[in-house]
Amino acid sequence: GASLMFFVGGNWKCNGTKDSISKLVFDLNSAQLESDVDVVVAPPFLYIDQVKNSLTDRIEVSAQNCWTGKGGAFTGEISVEQAKDLGCKWVILGHSERRHVIGENDEFIGKKAAYALSQGVGVIACIGELLQDREAGKTFEVCFQQLKAYADALPSWDNVVIAYEPVWAIGTGKVATPEQAQEVHAALRDWLTKNVSAEVASKTRIIYGGSVNGSNSSDLAKKEDIDGFLVGGASLKGPEFATIVNSVT
Ligand code: PEP
Repeated sequence: GASLMFFVGGNWKCNGTKDSISKLVFDLNSAQLESDVDVVVAPPFLYIDQVKNSLTDRIEVSAQNCWTGKGGAFTGEISVEQAKDLGCKWVILGHSERRHVIGENDEFIGKKAAYALSQGVGVIACIGELLQDREAGKTFEVCFQQLKAYADALPSWDNVVIAYEPVWAIGTGKVATPEQAQEVHAALRDWLTKNVSAEVASKTRIIYGGSVNGSNSSDLAKKEDIDGFLVGGASLKGPEFATIVNSVT
């Protein structure tokens, strides 16, 4: 990334136990992290309180999902108010696992994003194409459509980070090349310029996710339009996550 504050998020997904999370927090608390990076971790809901009570304030906490509106009679859901009450500053929305495994659509995700922002919780807004989309030459089309759904739903981009996560790269070990990622990031920024505003395009962080690890992050971070990372598997290892954070250029 060239000019914006680097942002690195760790998405722990549905992993961990009280013990393993206590060890991960210990490792994160012991790590030396570059100061000019926003660092966020997203534990499973059930462990957010444990993490908030033990993790250094240097690292912010995110939820991995939220309900579309105010809490109430929605069995099994977690509200933005509750996430905020436990100290979450962010929520990850539109993750590919929620889109493609759980079946969430653009409109539902847009509603959640708008409600989270209305409550002062920042949104890590995920988008990304399937392998079949890329092979059909539809990468930009799919990503623009998902981005437009956020744009249509959101009153402001002030508290939003866009995470470009090609689905074929998530959890597969097949990281996008720096050139592949940069190409899409530049296209997304261009879309924001044309469809939202030049100001939003220049101020909004666009982070990359998909098999980022301690060995490939520094080459990706050198690309002009890559402003950070969303990290899954490698965020479960404290020292490796710190290496990724410190790959800021
Ligand atoms: C993710 O789930 O956001 C992700 C990028 O996963 P991984 O790093 O494991 O590919």
